[in-house]
Amino acid sequence: MEKCYSLEEIKECSDKWQRSSQTVGFVPTMGNLHSGHLCLIKEAKLQCDRVVVSVFVNPEQFGPNEDFKEYPRSEESDIQLCEESGVNVVWFPQKTQIYPEGFSTYAEEDDLSHFLCGKSRQGHFRGVCTVLVILFNLVRPQKVFLGQKDAQQALVVKKMIQDWHLPLEAVVCPLQREYDGLAMSSRNANLSREQRTQSTVVCQSLEAAKKLILQGKTDASRIAGEINHILTKKRLIRVIYIEIVSRKTLRPLKKIETGDTLIAVAVWLGSVRLIDNIEV
Ligand code: AMP
Repeated sequence: MEKCYSLEEIKECSDKWQRSSQTVGFVPTMGNLHSGHLCLIKEAKLQCDRVVVSVFVNPEQFGPNEDFKEYPRSEESDIQLCEESGVNVVWFPQKTQIYPEGFSTYAEEDDLSHFLCGKSRQGHFRGVCTVLVILFNLVRPQKVFLGQKDAQQALVVKKMIQDWHLPLEAVVCPLQREYDGLAMSSRNANLSREQRTQSTVVCQSLEAAKKLILQGKTDASRIAGEINHILTKKRLIRVIYIEIVSRKTLRPLKKIETGDTLIAVAVWLGSVRLIDNIEV
């Protein structure tokens, strides 16, 4: 496995692969890799000749009062996990090369980005789209692998690829959970023991919603009310949003529509922001 730190190194790799017509699968991450990331890598290996993983805590997707500084970083173990998973290149882009002094061009999706997380994280998706366009241009992958954990992000990126005719395809892989249902996330490392214990209520509330739907309940506001009821029983949880939306347009639904419903929640557990979702 090669480790790249500079633009020159990653460009050299992508040039080489392009010349030899090898297909490239790209897994962009912010590191502190876990089994959710490893599933993306596994899928990329199945579908492509070469796999590149980037590890970059992208400052542009964090708001001024967000956890950029506290975001868990673990370069050594990320390298080891990539090596063990058969990744060809792990790339640690450098902030000064991605955003050199005077950088002033941003990518902004102007529809799907405004819902769900977009309401409470101003500029977040602009930061995500901007960094991805830059990384795509350098890696030049045929496929990018994204997780359903960040369902909105996957939709926004797909929309950008479509609108800008970017020459790659987005593959969305299923959300991976811990043994007790908590959605895997790099941020889980920042939960205290008590917060970690209470965190399972997030997926439990979604499971309860699913059960109500399977029993035939279709009123979205009642289902959201039930989720809220379950979440707020836990002392440490502060609800950011509970949204029942179309999984394609992210517009709120009044009635559950089987096959087109995404239930998404975001909560604070102390200063840790967690998101989770299920499709119905
Ligand atoms: P992150 O490092 O959190 O920016 O995530 C990098 C990629 O991994 C994104 O496409 C995420 O959606 C995906 N990912 C993160 N957590 C999970 C998970 N629990 N299951 C599946 N994919 C995930």
